[in-house]
Amino acid sequence: MARRPLIVGNWKMYKHRADAAAFCDGLRAGLPIEGVELAVCPPVTALDIVVSGLAGTGVLVFAQNGCAAAEGAFTGEVSMSMLVDAGVNGVLLGHSERRALFAETDLALAGKVPAAIDLGLIAVLCVGESERERDAGVTDQLLSRQLREGLAGIYATQATRGLVLAYEPVWAIGTGKTATPEIAQAAHAHIRAELRDLFGTAANDLHILYGGSVKPTNAADLIGQEDVDGALVGGASLDPDSMLAIASATLR
Ligand code: PEP
Repeated sequence: MARRPLIVGNWKMYKHRADAAAFCDGLRAGLPIEGVELAVCPPVTALDIVVSGLAGTGVLVFAQNGCAAAEGAFTGEVSMSMLVDAGVNGVLLGHSERRALFAETDLALAGKVPAAIDLGLIAVLCVGESERERDAGVTDQLLSRQLREGLAGIYATQATRGLVLAYEPVWAIGTGKTATPEIAQAAHAHIRAELRDLFGTAANDLHILYGGSVKPTNAADLIGQEDVDGALVGGASLDPDSMLAIASATLR
């Protein structure tokens, strides 16, 4: 079965509540776009505004992180059930900024991914190599390690229920240096092969998103690749018209 393209906008630590509400109005004005699924990931302070601002549009709302523990003495953390309680549909996990700046490990992710999926959230697990790792020729090994360790606690049935992968080469995030469609496809094919090894034929239905300087002008070529099922977009997702243009480009 064809995988319907999914475009996820990661706002990172941008937009106060009023900006988030204005984004929702702008996005609504360009919807619906048939044949493509959209999601946005606001900062935690704007989740409720975006959940209500996009209600009824079919656009999903994801958080940018979540804690594996159900509750407890974890100052500053937000549990997966709290995200569900806030009306959120999914969560980004293991973004390279969290790995690099907040010491997020594959071991921690192995706890977060099932915690999210078991509560009905879509877990978007991000993987990707640094420039140094690509230059050293170890991209495939690195991706395999991140996948095998980050998905250690996941069965095929859980993967089918709520797992999405995002391939985000670190050297392409926020740099304007996009992977060529060929580089993206090669990495995605490797990720799909690993997923088949882990989950069997269930891997054929899993979305693998590309992330790294995606814009309206390069989205179609990237998403036109066989194993690229959508995009995780940072900078270009902050403007609703740009998000809509990326979504429309995937249908070309
Ligand atoms: C991201 O933050 O996940 C991302 C891909 O950022 P950008 O599109 O700005 O490179």
